[in-house]
Amino acid sequence: MSEIAGKKTTESRHGSANLEDAPLMPTPEIQKLWNAVHAEMREEFGEAIFRSWLKPLTLRACYHGTMEVSVPTRFMRDWIQTHYAERISTMCTEKSADIKRVQIVVVQNAIIDDTPEVQASESAANAEKKDEELKKAIAEISSPLDPRFTFDSFVVGKPNALAHAAARRVVESANVPFNPLFLYGGVGLGKTHLMHAIAHAMNESFPEKTVMYLSAEKFMYQFVKALRANDTMAFKEQFRSVDVLMIDDIQFIAGKESTQEEFFHTFNALVDQNKQIIISADRAPSDLNGIDERLRSRLAWGLVADIHPSTYELRLGILQSKREKLGADVPDSVLEFLALKVTSNIRELEGALNRIVAHADVSKQEITLESTQDVLQDLLRAHDRRITIDEIQRKVAEHYNLRLSDMHSARRARNVARPRQVAMYLSKILTARSLPEIGRKFGGRDHTTVMHAIRKVEELMGDDAQIAQDVEVVRRALTG
Ligand code: ADP
Ligand code: MG
Repeated sequence: MSEIAGKKTTESRHGSANLEDAPLMPTPEIQKLWNAVHAEMREEFGEAIFRSWLKPLTLRACYHGTMEVSVPTRFMRDWIQTHYAERISTMCTEKSADIKRVQIVVVQNAIIDDTPEVQASESAANAEKKDEELKKAIAEISSPLDPRFTFDSFVVGKPNALAHAAARRVVESANVPFNPLFLYGGVGLGKTHLMHAIAHAMNESFPEKTVMYLSAEKFMYQFVKALRANDTMAFKEQFRSVDVLMIDDIQFIAGKESTQEEFFHTFNALVDQNKQIIISADRAPSDLNGIDERLRSRLAWGLVADIHPSTYELRLGILQSKREKLGADVPDSVLEFLALKVTSNIRELEGALNRIVAHADVSKQEITLESTQDVLQDLLRAHDRRITIDEIQRKVAEHYNLRLSDMHSARRARNVARPRQVAMYLSKILTARSLPEIGRKFGGRDHTTVMHAIRKVEELMGDDAQIAQDVEVVRRALTG
């Protein structure tokens, strides 16, 4: 490299080319000048950045004081423009008074190396290697798929028929049927199951396609990690190179502005390239508080399919399918009983069945209606009594001498906020309501606020006897 650098100084200092009148094809002098700039960029920005971003810059033409260099993609051009263009300009203008400006243009299939023959095969090999590295990185970012979450094991009923049909369409269509597919519904109703089913089916039908599945939380984590490592470039490249992007529980990025911004750009870039995007959330796009308006409206562009709370028939169907899979001897009457009693969500329903099967296994007893009631006592009690959040709020307000409206208000004074947190905590342990549902009942608060309240109260109960006692008193008053 130093050799080129040496040549550069002499050539460009003494160079007498009248660049204003230079022909469109760059003269050998200008080519040399450009080679020198290449060397200088490598020196200044380091090998890694040079290789990824600057090396592909190719001199195309020089006219009227403008040096025109090309890159193969728009994305690359934009990145270089914002990060390196100014410095590159200076490097060029410094070397010849005739050069006034540098212009970066996009030329697809731009020649990457200036000495074709020898380096073409090397750059092809590099490209292949880069491709492989990209694939590896994508596989690492994706979350593992649960092998049980397939279309085969998904029981279709009225509440989830639309979501299921939409998911199948995505897999069966040769092109992108709607973008994005937005699935939403309460906790434990099968959103993640459906997304994994799509991913499994895609991998099977289109093994050449890159499918990336991850939670919004992980998306944010990856993004922050890239920011810290000063490597958002690789991050962008990875996310923009997938064929199918699935982000689970998008509500998580509410209030996380830079993550939303990044996601928004990723989203647009993929939609532009006609790549399939699938999103899940616990509520409809329009109800996603804390998510930027333009992103919310973008999310509703494609097909929005909601999964409704389960019906008795669906719950029974799921239990029957699960029984078959477990190969367990569970009487119909027990399944019917469970379908009737455990109505909150399907995860809990499955958990109940697993518990009675495990219990029968260990105790070597047959499963009966009686044994079921016995094993699931605590669970059934909670469902039977059906304590409501309104009741909890009333009791807590009463206990602390507050007004009921303080439970919904935005006031943050400790004497109001703490009891409100207690009420949120009790709502979580005494009802089957999800965090977002609880949040809504408390003046439209975010689920993360509810989560924080629960943790806080749990923590306080450990070291504050007064709080522990308050919670216990109210709990007893509610559960009788
Ligand atoms: P969500 O992501 O909506 O919170 P999940 O997809 O994690 O819910 O589902 C919770 C559990 O319920 C999983 O074990 C899943 O397999 C099961 N489940 C949900 N819906 C169905 C269904 N229609 N058929 C079979 N299992 C289901
Ligand atoms: Mg889920």
